[in-house]
Amino acid sequence: MANRPFIVGNWKMHGTRAMLSEARAIDRAAQRLMQVEIALAPPFTLIHPVRREAEQIGVGAQDCHPADGGAHTGDISAAMVADAGAGFVILGHSERRDGHGEKDKLVAEKAQAAFDAGLKVILCCGEPMAKREAGKAVEHVLRQIKASLPTEIEEPGERLTIAYEPIWAIGSGAAAGVEDISEMHSAIREYLVKTFGEEAGTAIRIIYGGSVNADNAAEIIAADEVDGALVGGASLSAESFMNIVLAAQ
Ligand code: PEP
Repeated sequence: MANRPFIVGNWKMHGTRAMLSEARAIDRAAQRLMQVEIALAPPFTLIHPVRREAEQIGVGAQDCHPADGGAHTGDISAAMVADAGAGFVILGHSERRDGHGEKDKLVAEKAQAAFDAGLKVILCCGEPMAKREAGKAVEHVLRQIKASLPTEIEEPGERLTIAYEPIWAIGSGAAAGVEDISEMHSAIREYLVKTFGEEAGTAIRIIYGGSVNADNAAEIIAADEVDGALVGGASLSAESFMNIVLAAQ
């Protein structure tokens, strides 16, 4: 792993202010683990409280709207999440693609809005099981990445992370095999180098998500071209999340 490891907790629609104690515990532990970049993406309602209480870790959002503002009841703009204290946004998660009908084009518009608001972007991609069984997983994921990003990105090495999350592995308890993860990450790396050039293409972190836990994290994070992990369920307790972080050192 050439890049500084990046471990991100995606709290999804979990967490009220009672969860702030977990964020504080993660932040305290992070102060002794500077070689790993650690971040949390709590629900919108906790971005500001987590940012206020945590000094060391990054804080991000799980989505943003592509428009700057306007008549979009219930939506939140990139500038709003930045104002609340977010430094990055997760975009294109399969739960948004499936549950909210988000298509690649919309994800690309959201990414443009996020970059314009000064946020970093974690772009999620991943194949359904049917594509993997048909031998089309790599083709599907590369097409998804290409279509879900704006055509011009300033400082992509600094501002973009790709999260490979096979849909069938998310929340299933069955992570992808290490060989399959390496094969996919290597294909993504090749695509990034071809698209953004050698320097930026190798600096963009490619993290894996899908049933990462304290038992499988070390092996996954040590695999070729894996720069860290996007963690859902196991990020909800400071203890299990920090065990994953320890595995990434
Ligand atoms: C996710 O949804 O981003 C995720 C990786 O979830 P889990 O770790 O629970 O599979």
